[in-house]
Amino acid sequence: MSEASPITYLDNNATTPIDPEVREAMLPYLGEHFGNPSGGYAIARKARAAVEAARESVAGLIGAQVDEIVFTSCGTESIHTSIASAIASFPDRRHLVTTAAEHSATYEQFKRLEERGGFEVTWVGVDEQGHVDMDAWSAAMRAGETVLASMIWANNETGVIAPVVRAAEIARDNGVLFHSDAVQAAGKLSINLGSESPLAMLSLSGHKLHAPKGVGALWVNRHVRFSPLLVGGGQENDRRSGTENVLGIVGFGKAAELARATLADDVLDQLAEMRDAFEAQVMLKWPQAEINGDVDRRLANTSNLFFPGIDAEGLLILLDRAGVCCSPGSACSTGAVEPSRVIKAMGHSASRARSSVRFSFSRFNTVAEVEVGAAVVVEAARKLDTGLGAPTSRGGPVIFNS
Ligand code: PLP
Repeated sequence: MSEASPITYLDNNATTPIDPEVREAMLPYLGEHFGNPSGGYAIARKARAAVEAARESVAGLIGAQVDEIVFTSCGTESIHTSIASAIASFPDRRHLVTTAAEHSATYEQFKRLEERGGFEVTWVGVDEQGHVDMDAWSAAMRAGETVLASMIWANNETGVIAPVVRAAEIARDNGVLFHSDAVQAAGKLSINLGSESPLAMLSLSGHKLHAPKGVGALWVNRHVRFSPLLVGGGQENDRRSGTENVLGIVGFGKAAELARATLADDVLDQLAEMRDAFEAQVMLKWPQAEINGDVDRRLANTSNLFFPGIDAEGLLILLDRAGVCCSPGSACSTGAVEPSRVIKAMGHSASRARSSVRFSFSRFNTVAEVEVGAAVVVEAARKLDTGLGAPTSRGGPVIFNS
């Protein structure tokens, strides 16, 4: 293993490389098409038209109406907007429902509302496979009291897929607004928010599907009351003020169009084959490894592996040195390694979380990369197992929050 190794990028749930076609579509908006879409002259109209075309593509990816898409700066902003909108729409309600396995963008805001905002939160548990306890979900709904119920569609750490439509129906039947964080699901699962959808809101992020970072979208069901988080210039039809990130939006639109085409052909099957081949190759040589989360109901691109007795931090250092990029099942931002909240919520020990690593693939990975990745993982695990080559420093904090 040497510093000069080429990169094997297996961390696509953290972010994805920009598709060359997306970059191509964006380039004119870095140059001649720089107009502000709110302007009243030709170059502004060009920018406006591009934003509206992108809106159509993003709506098309999730089977939504075009005017239900609100562009934002990221998935986190979309999620926060959904929460703020629900609270503003039902100011007398003080109860929230979510799951114990949400991304930190939802978790931290619900925690803040619980600790400092005067809200009561029901955190619905997940089982060892990562599935939400649906009886507890139903029992958590309080008609007339619950402001919002939010459930992640596909988990960013394990890829486990939630029964979101059923969860939304339960919320709706109790008169509760339902939001889903679909940041990891979009482009990797078929989502169809037809006119009868029980969902109220849904969050998306461009950089998880080969668009640039810094652009997201919130889908708002046209039958639902909405109140903006950002007010000011009245952009996005008064639903999200701030001059539009035209460049990012154009990229997001192109990426959504390409993702839709991907869903229509067999790319997802190829991704699942790649992931399964990776797991098989690792487990052939390292049979103690186990998969975290339901093997049959997870995203085609995600593999979260537990290596008993191996420190994931150490493994990551060796993988990094060999040019293999992936994420740990723990977070370390202040010197102390915090085991993954999601893996612990599944009833696993902190030590299992500290020995777990997430690998996530995309259509840009190759079979050769899968083979290299698996071989390097096995070699690194062997080194750590025998106490050889145990690394002492990674060179920076590890943060698993994507
Ligand atoms: N939700 C999930 C499931 C994610 O994986 C991420 C990204 O890390 C986010 C929300 C936040 O998205 P963004 O980075 O665009 O704010």
